[in-house]
Amino acid sequence: MQDPTPDSEGFAGMHITVAGLGVSGVPAARALAGLGAHVTVVNSSDGERERTQAAELEPLGITVRLGDGDTLPEGTELVVTTPGWKPSSPLFLAAEKAGIEVWGDVELAWRLRGPDSAPWLAVTGTNGKTTTVRMLASILEAEGLRTAAVGNIGVPLVDVVLGEGQEDGASYDVLAVELSSYQLHWAPSVRAHSAAVLNLAPDHLDWHGSMAAYAADKGRIYEGNTVACVYNLADPATEELVRAADVEEGCRAIGFTLGTPGPSQVGVVEGILVDRAFVANPQTAQELAEISDLASPAPHNIANALAAAALARAFGVRPASVRDGLRAFHPEPHRIQHIADIGGITYIDDSKATNTHAAEASLAAYERIVWIAGGLAKGATFDELVQKSAKRLRGVVLIGADRALIREALARHAPDVPVVDLERTDTGAMSEAVREAARLGRPGDTVLLAPACASMDMFVNYTKRGAAFADAVRELTAASWRPVP
Ligand code: ADP
Repeated sequence: MQDPTPDSEGFAGMHITVAGLGVSGVPAARALAGLGAHVTVVNSSDGERERTQAAELEPLGITVRLGDGDTLPEGTELVVTTPGWKPSSPLFLAAEKAGIEVWGDVELAWRLRGPDSAPWLAVTGTNGKTTTVRMLASILEAEGLRTAAVGNIGVPLVDVVLGEGQEDGASYDVLAVELSSYQLHWAPSVRAHSAAVLNLAPDHLDWHGSMAAYAADKGRIYEGNTVACVYNLADPATEELVRAADVEEGCRAIGFTLGTPGPSQVGVVEGILVDRAFVANPQTAQELAEISDLASPAPHNIANALAAAALARAFGVRPASVRDGLRAFHPEPHRIQHIADIGGITYIDDSKATNTHAAEASLAAYERIVWIAGGLAKGATFDELVQKSAKRLRGVVLIGADRALIREALARHAPDVPVVDLERTDTGAMSEAVREAARLGRPGDTVLLAPACASMDMFVNYTKRGAAFADAVRELTAASWRPVP
């Protein structure tokens, strides 16, 4: 670690407790120890992985306490938490009682920024964060700016911020920052240049306690914005969050819409993404890109592109760079990923659709669908999703632990749609699901894996679920291949 940045000198000698190891706890502990703080990491579990991590931290003078994440270490002056910990955790209650502040990893990064640190363009929302932040970074790069997609993705934000301005570290002009609701909860003083809330649907309510608390945490992203608060015209809750925010004077509310934009909005006119917000004459519209410049014309993908474009334009990026950046952008795997066309049927992997809001967006993107769904419902209900999508469904194949919930919703709202209910949960289950889907499909249809559920009942994570789907589609290709006699 190099010399601390001027703002971070105050950490030397402080007794700081880091709640949790993991992807953000370890870098936070390292950074704080490097700044001369006395760091204790507490972690509830005490497995092999945690012991290995502890063994790496202890030589740096960091105390690691495994197996007890509830008791606040004696003498703690500040708690820095990783995002997973619930606000109701006993450790935080103890901190609150003692009048000790709790910061998240993002708050810590914000406080560690040097005076010349790059401004943040921030993105949150229930779905589409990663895609939008990566689109934004691609646009900023096309403009020739030094940037990175960071936050809930990529290199830990603390490391990015501490690296800035160091001789051997990267220097950025601007950062594209993805922020989760957990991170925003513990980030009271973050002030972005401009920020977007893409959408708001019930998710992680067990963590936040209520929809109102979840929305309020998302809304924090707008606090103190200096140039633009970007919201979704199709999702009035996002506009309400802008209204509730306390922003810098002159900061503007900019809406994005899939329809024709009004003044101070970006939107779509005849297949062209246009800007009526960052133009000299508000009566005119500036062309930014064509829908055909995007990797997918799915409506939610266009919405993400518009939000990214609005943030980039708020930062002064030229229209041609918006187009070039969107053209250069390639989505991450398992997000509406085209796998194959076999016998006139298209196979799409949207394994990342782990909640009903995401699945609704994917189902809206195709005309006639054989839908593969199911997994862990995380307390969700499926009536609205099935109702909205019923007319597009050729058939449904259900997998996973909570498939009965979807089956019952289908029986209520789409009783004529054929449903295959797969009981098996072994590794061959996805192959059977794909074979059944192929059997139900007709040429011109799309077989869509958009489970609306988490994957952990059958797979390690959504990536593995998507990979199993792609493998199963490949098996189909192999099965339909016959040597010429
Ligand atoms: P996040 O980082 O918020 O999880 P991703 O960009 O990784 O978002 O996309 C996750 C899933 O959410 C995608 O697979 C897609 O199904 C869905 N999705 C993406 N963008 C949107 C959007 N704007 N509205 C609704 N659903 C979306």
